[in-house]
Amino acid sequence: MKGAAPKVGFVSLGCPKALVDSEQILTQLRAEGYAVAPTYQGADLVVVNTCGFIDSAVAESLDAIGEALAENGRVVVTGCLGAKGDIVRQTHPKVLAVTGPHATAEVMDAVHAHLPKPHDPFTDLVPPQGVKLTPTHYAYLKISEGCNHRCTFCIIPSMRGDLVSRDIGQVMREAENLVRAGVREILVISQDTSAYGVDVKYRTGFHDGRPLKTRMADLAVALGELGVWVRLHYVYPYPSVDEVIPLMAEGKLLPYLDVPFQHANPRILKLMQRPASGEKNLERIEAWRRVCPELTVRSTFIAGFPGETEAEFQELLDFIEAAQIDRAGCFAYSPVEGARANDLEGALPEHEREARRAEFMKVQERISRRRLKARVGRTTKVLIDAVNQDGAVARSTGDAPEIDGNVFIEWPARKAEQGKLKVGEIVNVKVTGSDAHDLWGRLAA
Ligand code: SF4
Repeated sequence: MKGAAPKVGFVSLGCPKALVDSEQILTQLRAEGYAVAPTYQGADLVVVNTCGFIDSAVAESLDAIGEALAENGRVVVTGCLGAKGDIVRQTHPKVLAVTGPHATAEVMDAVHAHLPKPHDPFTDLVPPQGVKLTPTHYAYLKISEGCNHRCTFCIIPSMRGDLVSRDIGQVMREAENLVRAGVREILVISQDTSAYGVDVKYRTGFHDGRPLKTRMADLAVALGELGVWVRLHYVYPYPSVDEVIPLMAEGKLLPYLDVPFQHANPRILKLMQRPASGEKNLERIEAWRRVCPELTVRSTFIAGFPGETEAEFQELLDFIEAAQIDRAGCFAYSPVEGARANDLEGALPEHEREARRAEFMKVQERISRRRLKARVGRTTKVLIDAVNQDGAVARSTGDAPEIDGNVFIEWPARKAEQGKLKVGEIVNVKVTGSDAHDLWGRLAA
């Protein structure tokens, strides 16, 4: 037999928009099996939905919170007053949580934290972190959908539409659920991570009752507090990116940036209509490395774009050499149906595009080999992905899963050390060997 349902009291103040918010929260509470209590005394916790429009509404809301605290003691505050700075916490420091308006998910989060719902095997078919297709120790965190750019070789915006950023409170909640479920590495993804929040004018959301701006740098700070590896993908080199580099130097984010440069020649970048194409990328990378010398830069490029001259292709090779791009993928340009770049003049024959791609990869391999060799003899932190009879397959902070290299750890002779080789563990490895893409090493203290 199931235990009695936990009971939530509800006070709803304010305008019809606030009323709709209340209805949504009540619907969710009921859908999850909570009961609604008609009195303060009969409730295990009270939600107060406030108004903050004019002074009298603020006073009425603060009074209602005070009454709920006096009569019940366990109070979650939501609504417009919650978005007005710290007024609620300053007046009533004992409230359990504060959110802004339209925040059903955050309110439910606070309710779950302070009045957990008993587990019901008949309805709880999905774990809180959702169903994941990745191994349990790493997971992708999608922060937005779509893209506001119109790169001429790409048809993503026509398929997925303009940028739509996810609510930052929801993103953080998902990240916390992942960490609670055992994830050790979060990979932040989108079409354009640095543009996170542009569509909502960097709206202030809420996480744990605290205001948090819908902005990449603010999200990075919050994710950096979770105590797991956080890796940023698809970051365009806008000036705002400079803000996250110090977090990498402090160890809050992985010292890793996946920046899809696509090319280095200004004319080709313009033909591609790339975002941030006017930035001085070489200088930017050098400045980033001055702040965070451990930084690994990964990128993708296109060789043989329509009209690309020999000299322009050479400029691309010179760029990856000068910038010492650690990891790179290169595609030979291939016309995608519906892409505007197909109409550009000067299409190159397929064999030429392929030859340039191969040439690019040769140069890149040389750079990668040299940079990995410099790590031999050093000790590095790695995350173990798999264990087999030869030892373990792991990744360093410079290796994203699937796309970058591996660190192969030899099977330790000492029994005490063998136990450390477990999937999902982060261990120190002394690097003993390298090739063009991977490292080899043994466990270190
Ligand atoms: S390639 Fe350009 S248009 Fe396509 S998703 Fe990336 S930034 Fe947007």
